[in-house]
Amino acid sequence: MPTEARTGGDQTPVIEFRDVEKRFGDNVVLKDLNFTVARGERVTLIGPSGSGKTTILRLVMTLEELTGGYIYVDGEPLSHEDRDGKRVPVSKSQQKRLRTRIGMVFQQFNLFPNMTVLENIIEAPVHVLGMSKRDATDKAHRLLEQVGLPDKANAHPTSLSGGQQQRVAIARALAMDPEILLLDEVTSALDPEVVGDVLEILREVAETTNVTMLIVTHEMGFARDVSHRVMMFDGGRVIEDGPPEKIFSHPEHERTQQFLSAVL
Ligand code: ADP
Repeated sequence: MPTEARTGGDQTPVIEFRDVEKRFGDNVVLKDLNFTVARGERVTLIGPSGSGKTTILRLVMTLEELTGGYIYVDGEPLSHEDRDGKRVPVSKSQQKRLRTRIGMVFQQFNLFPNMTVLENIIEAPVHVLGMSKRDATDKAHRLLEQVGLPDKANAHPTSLSGGQQQRVAIARALAMDPEILLLDEVTSALDPEVVGDVLEILREVAETTNVTMLIVTHEMGFARDVSHRVMMFDGGRVIEDGPPEKIFSHPEHERTQQFLSAVL
């Protein structure tokens, strides 16, 4: 990837975590978490299982409520405290608006099983963005071409392989022209022989768009190729944060060294 593509966007924070805490009951999963992601920046979160990486993506998508601190997306807080210090979640209308700007691809694809591939892809553009069915369909066909499934528009997700379903899920996320793309271990449920194809599609998305990406993956080669920055998590905190060359080749923290020697 060219060096200029490595500079990581225009530095406007698109995502900002301020003193974020997330607990499930007594289990404090994230604590005192502070970081920003600039527009166009691609940041990969690495770290042992259970360190809170997926929770971060789910918080940004408002699939989880934070229990302390603030998260801003484009300067807009995702929840706030009222005068009595009680936490007020995002309103349904704010949530709906936010989700038009954020695409998420999950480990388990999460396609609508009762809809065809085409219907899956045009659902949100038509019903959330108000795009005409014709324009959304044209766009869906272009996206299916891009993900290498031009002849699967009328197929049902259950008739597709895992790799094909994940490619549809990527097309569905891109159909909204998201400003932010959240990728949550998108290859972890796939057969090893199709992982490369899915990662290749995402590499191309990274190279040809300015979409801000927050990525959780165990694919370290992919993380090294597409990320501007890698953040190493342990116990709900960022213990190391830097360009991929540095994190992968010269990790400073002993915990990072141990983690990488176990996964590389
Ligand atoms: P990672 O993505 O790094 O593997 P997760 O964010 O999935 O970590 O999980 C972090 C911790 O939060 C784990 O201890 C997990 O059990 C807990 N956790 C995640 N989601 C929930 C939930 N919905 N309810 C209770 N605990 C949860």
